[in-house]
Amino acid sequence: MTDTTSGTVRLRATLESVPRYVAGKPATEQPGRTTYKISSNENPYPPLPSVLDVVRDAMQTMNRYPDMGTVELRDAIAERFGVHPDEIATGTGSVGLLGTLLQITCEPGDEVVYAWRSFEAYPIVVGLSGATGVQVPLDGEARHDLSAMADAITERTRLIVVCTPNNPTGPAVHAAELDEFLAHVPRDVLVLLDEAYLEFNRDADAADALAVWRKHPNVAVLRTFSKAYGLAGLRVGYCIAHEQVASALRTAAVPFGVSHIAQRAAIASLAAYDELEERVVALVAERDRLLIGLRDLGYAVPDTQANFVWLPLGDRTLDFAAAAEEAGVVVRPFAGDGVRCSVGEVEATDRLLEVAAAFTATGR
Ligand SMILES: *Cc1c(COP(=O)(O)O)cnc(C)c1O
Repeated sequence: MTDTTSGTVRLRATLESVPRYVAGKPATEQPGRTTYKISSNENPYPPLPSVLDVVRDAMQTMNRYPDMGTVELRDAIAERFGVHPDEIATGTGSVGLLGTLLQITCEPGDEVVYAWRSFEAYPIVVGLSGATGVQVPLDGEARHDLSAMADAITERTRLIVVCTPNNPTGPAVHAAELDEFLAHVPRDVLVLLDEAYLEFNRDADAADALAVWRKHPNVAVLRTFSKAYGLAGLRVGYCIAHEQVASALRTAAVPFGVSHIAQRAAIASLAAYDELEERVVALVAERDRLLIGLRDLGYAVPDTQANFVWLPLGDRTLDFAAAAEEAGVVVRPFAGDGVRCSVGEVEATDRLLEVAAAFTATGR
């Protein structure tokens, strides 16, 4: 929370209720061994050489503003997914777009419905906007409870965020349940499908967000280059939306928010996706090894379709995180609730499984 009363300047009262974003901790160095950061759902692979070449080239013009309309990037995204460039808005990461979505949908006091626990940026961007967050608890399998979310809609609801696969718990929303849910949502309420982890999703029943978007004028899809594409540090994401919403997002965007370097890197990464996909396939295999390993040890890990697993450890959460850090793997604890562990290097998985085995053995 922010203390808005200690200075001389009158700041917005809504700041008091805005939680702070807790970034995943970096790996702490330990003498004599490699340590691993599996706290931020990052791609553990280094940038592709072909992308680095493009970035080096793009640096040459950093005295100039980038293309404000991100025209070539929107064209490349449009071509890849079979949509029109006018149906795309880009932003400084999908979190940047989320903030803009709040600006274009909500007046203070309007309501935003989302599942909880879900992505920690949601309460922050909603709180900052002055809108009211309506958090709907996940069900017993750490999945979105879409019928409870439908019940949470009121006259004041302007935006609903559905995170699929859900960060930090892992499951994806299924096509049939999403269809039924959308039938209950008024047509003037925007439903945002946050698909940050789309590329890792192997659930055959999962909703096809683009097909859903085509069918529903009030649906938009949020995606990022930060995870599967490995560009987290360049801050570029995109929203596929019907023209009215996409155009409003472009109007409200921070001017020149996506750097030239980020634009070129994203275009090069779309072109190199086959190569990136090999890495995604390897990460999915590693995820499944981690999931099975943890379940074999007796942990109640929910299904995961993303590049992380969720350990619902309750009050043992911080103890587990401390044990992992001691062993040289930094995870992301959510105090009192659970631990999110990203899928990283093979050795990181090995190390984490060792920690998990020792943790149960000592009865902690
Ligand atoms: C990581 C993540 C994002 C992506 O954030 P960027 O700002 O694009 O880096 C968006 N949504 C969810 C649910 C995430 O976990």
